Amino acid sequence: MESNCLNSFAAFGLTEPITRALAQENYVTPTPIQAQTIPVAMRGRDVVGIAQTGTGKTAAFALPILHRLSTERRRPEPKRCRVLVLAPTRELSAQILDSFNTYGRHLRVGATLAIGGVSIAPQVRALAPGVDVLVATPGRLLDLVQNRALRLDAVNILVLDEADRMLDMGFIHDIRKIVAQLPVKRQTLFFSATMPQAIAELAGAMLRDPVKVAVTPVATTAERIDQRIIHLDRAAKPAALADVLRHESIDRALVFTRTKHGADKVVRGLAKAGIAAQAIHGNKTQPQRERVLAAFRAGRIKTLIATDIAARGIDVDGISHVVNYDLPNIPESYVHRIGRTARAGAAGTAISFCAADEVPYLRAIEKLIRTAIPAANRRPSRPAHGRPERPRGETPRRHREHRRGGEAHQRRPAPAPGRAKPRHDPSDLATLPFLQPAVRPHAARAPATASITGE
Ligand code: AMP
Repeated sequence: MESNCLNSFAAFGLTEPITRALAQENYVTPTPIQAQTIPVAMRGRDVVGIAQTGTGKTAAFALPILHRLSTERRRPEPKRCRVLVLAPTRELSAQILDSFNTYGRHLRVGATLAIGGVSIAPQVRALAPGVDVLVATPGRLLDLVQNRALRLDAVNILVLDEADRMLDMGFIHDIRKIVAQLPVKRQTLFFSATMPQAIAELAGAMLRDPVKVAVTPVATTAERIDQRIIHLDRAAKPAALADVLRHESIDRALVFTRTKHGADKVVRGLAKAGIAAQAIHGNKTQPQRERVLAAFRAGRIKTLIATDIAARGIDVDGISHVVNYDLPNIPESYVHRIGRTARAGAAGTAISFCAADEVPYLRAIEKLIRTAIPAANRRPSRPAHGRPERPRGETPRRHREHRRGGEAHQRRPAPAPGRAKPRHDPSDLATLPFLQPAVRPHAARAPATASITGE
């Protein structure tokens, strides 16, 4: 079992044109599947990855492939491809092609699509001189092979994406036919959201000594947690936080800010409101952090303010509330933050403050978790003159509760095409001996021991 937890794309040693494209896409931190997959794939190992769409798995395989193509510059032979990516649907294939074009925009790498439902002639023409990367659905690929428009004997890297959907859609026989025509000496990267027995067997037959990687299905984590958004002015955040901490029944609250400076400011603001809190971030010494964390774990401090990076090493059970004082600009961070609560199946609450300029971050998060987070208006705080003040446009609490329950249900957007939820329970995989994941899903995590990593 291998684990590679790299926190920045620079650490992978990808070629400069690739890192430049990533910077243009505002990718700063690799997602967990990327951190685990990219280094081992770059070393040429086979990988079997359990990850859903939405976890960043496309870049997890596309980046090491583009790196290899750019370092081993060679013309593809006519009617051949060097990399074959198989996906179950036309939509997903098109998205994968887009990703290759995006990440490879500063490289001279040719990528093309072979999908059904459209004329085959342009695909035959595109393949005639040979291509670096071919993204295909299985049926059309076999048609092209049968028509002698394509040979599969020069494939160096095979990617099989969404293998469990391939099974559901009846493609397994086609996959076996395709694999039989590939060179035995190749690298194979195999991804599936779930690992039913038939898929585990297929992987077993296709892969050589694979590195196994797995990540928590993001939607599953998010669904166990009571999530709320509070829309407010930036200037109202300190009072809103004090309000939440006073009125919610909190065992332990972890409050996230974007910056270290912001974390200290929040501590000072809470102190003025008579609420004790401590900050944990990279400017604190290791003994300071250890002390704060021990107090938090023991319940002597109920509120801990942290930045994303400092929080990475905090592994504490019994966090009843996560508060996003600032919304993260990387949607995956939201899922990691809220995953700090609702550990081991416990209930948890995640409250996020969203100022007007953070609305685009909120939209990106909702897209990632495929859920519209219900907007809860802030519980009215009691001003000095004693009458509760209802912020403009807010409805009284009893109406709100009623509306929220209904809204949360109705506003859940349908999955985008090609991004449907898996039909199997992703937790099934943990029981299969073939796939004991390198990183266990959060829900299955053992009782916590606390540790801190540096910033
Ligand atoms: P995927 O699971 O590959 O479909 O990716 C889901 C979404 O996350 C896509 O919109 C990607 O552009 C985006 N994405 C993937 N990796 C990262 C990253 N490291 N940082 C920010 N966004 C990312």
